[in-house]
Amino acid sequence: MRFATKQIHAGIEHDPLTGSVVPPIYQTTTYVQPSVDEYLSKGYSYSRTGNPTVRTLERKIALLEEGHDATCYSTGMAAIQATMLALLNAGDHAIVSDVAYGGTYRLCTQVLNRFGVEVTFADTSDATHVREALRDNTRLILTETPANPTLKLTDIAAISEIAQERGIPHAVDNTFLTPYYQRPLELGADLSIHSTTKYFDGHNATVGGAVVAKTAELDEKLRFILGSNGTIMSPQVAWLTLQGLKTLTVRLDKQCENAMKVAQFLEAHPKAETVCYPGLESFAQHELAKRQATGFGAMLWFEVVGGASAGKKLMDTVKTPWTLAENLGALESLVTHPATMTHAAVDPAERERVGITDGLVRLSVGLEDAEDLIGALDRALAEI
Ligand SMILES: *Cc1c(COP(=O)(O)O)cnc(C)c1O
Repeated sequence: MRFATKQIHAGIEHDPLTGSVVPPIYQTTTYVQPSVDEYLSKGYSYSRTGNPTVRTLERKIALLEEGHDATCYSTGMAAIQATMLALLNAGDHAIVSDVAYGGTYRLCTQVLNRFGVEVTFADTSDATHVREALRDNTRLILTETPANPTLKLTDIAAISEIAQERGIPHAVDNTFLTPYYQRPLELGADLSIHSTTKYFDGHNATVGGAVVAKTAELDEKLRFILGSNGTIMSPQVAWLTLQGLKTLTVRLDKQCENAMKVAQFLEAHPKAETVCYPGLESFAQHELAKRQATGFGAMLWFEVVGGASAGKKLMDTVKTPWTLAENLGALESLVTHPATMTHAAVDPAERERVGITDGLVRLSVGLEDAEDLIGALDRALAEI
C-alpha cells in the first residue's frame, strides 16, 4: 500500500463486536482477566501500560514510518523524555542539535543535568561538529530536522553513519515533516520522534507524542519507561489523532503549497528580509531539503525591516486568518514569536548564537486560501 492508502487503512481492524468502521474509544482503566493463570492473555491489564485505542494508533504510526513498532505519549515532550530516559544513565553524554525545540533544550539543561547526564549542543548540520563532540561516554545523538524554529537541516544519513560507527542510537525529531515527507529510519536513524500535537492531529485539538523504533530492543526499552513513568497518551487523544491522521497527505500538500506562496510573496516584499523556507532556491540547504525529504513542510520564518520592534508590531497587528499563538502544524495559520514564546527557556546568548533572533517571526501556514493569508500579511506590513 502507498502512503495515502496506509494513512487511512493501516493498522485498522473493524470492531469485531459491532462492525464499526471507526475503531472505538476504549475508555477504561482495567481489563478483566479470565483467570490468574491467564493474566494478560488478551494483552491488556491496566490502561497506564496499554490501551487498545492507543495501541491502534501506535501500530498505524509504526506502519507509516516503516518502523518495528511505536509508543505513544501524553505529549511530544514526554516522547523526547522517554527516549532520553530509556537510553541514558548517570555519567552518560548525549549530543543534541544546537537548534531544537525549546522544551528539549530545557529538559537537557534543567532536568537531565540534575541526574548526571551531560549534553553537548552541537551544530548537527555539519557532521564534523558531531564527530568533534563525540566522547567515550556518548550514548545518544538526538537531532531535529528541520529544526524549530530556524529550519536548519541535519543530514540524517551522514549523522546516522557516525552513530552506527560508534554503535550508538541516532534519534531524529521528525515533527516538522512527518513520515509523509521524511522517513529517518530509511535514512539510517534508529528512532523517529513526533509531537503528534502538530501535523498528526492537525486540528489544534490535542497534545500527544510518539516514538517509532527501528528494532524490538529499542521499542522494549521505551515501552518499559512509558509504563514506569506513566506518560501514556489518553484513549480520547489517540482516537482524535487517528481521525486527524487520515487526511495527513491532503493537509500537508496543501499547507506546503500555501507556505511556498507565502514565502515567495515575502521574498518579493521590500519590508521583509531574510525569508527562510526550505522550498526557496535561496534557502542555504535547499539541495539537502530536496535530497532527504519529498516535501518542504509548511513552516517558515522571516524578519521585518526595522528589527525586533517592527516584527512585534507585525505580530500584534496581523489579522485573520493569522492568529498570534504557540503551536504549529494545524489547519489554522499561526504566527509565533519564538524568542518570547516557544524558545523563551533558551538562554538569550544561546538563542542569539544559533540564530533565533528577537526579530524572528515564525509562521505555521495552514489550510486557508493562500490569497487571504497573503492579503492579511500585506495589510499588516503596510501598517509598519
Ligand atoms: C512542539 C514540539 C515538541 C514538543 O511537543 P509537545 O507536544 O508540545 O510536548 C517537540 N519537538 C518539536 C520539533 C516540536 O515542534
